[in-house]
Amino acid sequence: MTTDSAVFAGGCTCRAVRYRMTSRPLFVHCCHCRWCQRETGSAFALNALIEADRVELLQGEVEVIATPSNSGKGQQIARCSKCRIALWSNYAGAGDALRFVRVGTLDEPDRFPPDIHIFTASKQPWVLLPASTPAVPEYYRASQHWPAESLARRAAL
Ligand SMILES: [Zn+2]
Ligand SMILES: [Zn+2]
Repeated sequence: MTTDSAVFAGGCTCRAVRYRMTSRPLFVHCCHCRWCQRETGSAFALNALIEADRVELLQGEVEVIATPSNSGKGQQIARCSKCRIALWSNYAGAGDALRFVRVGTLDEPDRFPPDIHIFTASKQPWVLLPASTPAVPEYYRASQHWPAESLARRAAL
């Protein structure tokens, strides 16, 4: 399957909302910050960063809820209007053009392992990270970790 023809679908738990990414994401974050731990009720959040116009809503409605974020600038979380499962976010810092799709809502989440682990300073100690994936204590510069193709796509935003 080529990058351009790849189509990746997902949805919420009640099945009212279905969406798809029309290409591979730019990059996948596994975030171990306390905010993601609280929002997910788990140890980390897995987010696929992708251009907003490459996320198509196929069915149902999302409700966008303003939510505080670690940066203090806030995030807009799109949730199914029925079951309230979070599907993606836009962060104020990254702008409306970039979405953080919750990888766990994709039909085939195994396809998108993390490209980087971030905020590992607050990683839960039982989570063991593979040496083969970059990991940073807080955040990072995209220019140092993203593939050239993804940097070019981001520059086009
Ligand atoms: Zn739902
Ligand atoms: Zn986080």
